[in-house]
Amino acid sequence: MIPYGRQSISQNEIDAVVDVLRSDFLTQGPVVPRFEASVATFCDAPFAVAMNSATSALHAACLALELGPGDLLWTVPNTFVASANCGRYCGAEVDFVDIDEYTWNIDVSALAAKLHTAESAGRLPKIVVPVHFAGQSCDMRAIRALSQQYGFRVVEDASHAIGGSYASRPVGSCEFSDITVFSFHPVKIITSAEGGMAMTRDADLALKMQELRSHGITRDPARMRGDSAGGWDYQQLSLGYNYRLTDVHAALGLAQMQRMTGFVARRRELVARYDELLADLPVIVPGRQADADPAWHLYVIRVPGRRREIFDALRNGGIGVNVHYIPVHLQPYYQALGFQRGDFPVSEGYYEQAITLPLYPDMTNEQQDQVVDVLMKALQEYPA
Ligand SMILES: *Cc1c(COP(=O)(O)O)cnc(C)c1O
Repeated sequence: MIPYGRQSISQNEIDAVVDVLRSDFLTQGPVVPRFEASVATFCDAPFAVAMNSATSALHAACLALELGPGDLLWTVPNTFVASANCGRYCGAEVDFVDIDEYTWNIDVSALAAKLHTAESAGRLPKIVVPVHFAGQSCDMRAIRALSQQYGFRVVEDASHAIGGSYASRPVGSCEFSDITVFSFHPVKIITSAEGGMAMTRDADLALKMQELRSHGITRDPARMRGDSAGGWDYQQLSLGYNYRLTDVHAALGLAQMQRMTGFVARRRELVARYDELLADLPVIVPGRQADADPAWHLYVIRVPGRRREIFDALRNGGIGVNVHYIPVHLQPYYQALGFQRGDFPVSEGYYEQAITLPLYPDMTNEQQDQVVDVLMKALQEYPA
């Protein structure tokens, strides 16, 4: 089976992990700040806070921005559930904005319209979470302008998008947002096995997230209430969590940073090849956001008609296809909160036709040809 995504692990990366196992620190030690510095330099952002997953980083980001009960967080239905759940963890209400028919990212005109209505109702969101679907940046200039007009904060879910850029700035620079979150799950652009990182340009938000990832505890006498009792003293300032990344994981992530631009270059090459190979087939390929250079975590096509049969034919033909994403508002948990089929028709229509084709840096051209071959036969067998 050709998988839809797969990590690429070199001997150098294995050695880096083994070195940590032989060292004095297993959990957060000297490698975590080196990994943070590497990503911060790459993204041209002053602060990076590593955590044990992007889900944890999204939660800490929302807490640092003081999201709580009575507040609203908006994201898109076309994402992994974590983009919405971070709002629920904070006790906030979650709502969605439909996606653009062409880029499959947040529809900024739908966002503008919903904000206009929400303002009259006194129901403006505190945080909006745009998701850079498949590794392609959202229209961040437009989102930034709306955030200034309506006073909400922006947390970019860039789980798919490290290595991509927008407006000639690296995703993660936080040029157009308060915080940007990356995931290092094995299927993503680079991996630390499990892991995530929150980027920001705001020193205060960075400090808050550093404390939140470690129980809300500080050991810095300058941050303590009253005088420090001595070198052993620490104070818990807020209700934090254990969201720390380990040095074992950070060593893998740091070593992967050396190959990140190579990974992204190969992904872009394969995407250009897919675009070309699929040009004459009755499928819709990803539309491009102006001013964005995507990292291409996923390559999704929309097929006409019988998606289920085409999906099964691909799987039976040895092609490990997948579907991204089941609209979050259709999940039973969100249905129980009152969302219904029909609430976000563009996301639902997209979902009905979406198939994610295999894409990963070690994929060969021959494997890609095989994917296209099996797809072509499936489309002939199950025409619209
Ligand atoms: C993978 C992913 C996450 C969660 O990442 P973890 O590191 O597994 O917690 C969140 N949002 C999106 C869009 C993702 O693809």
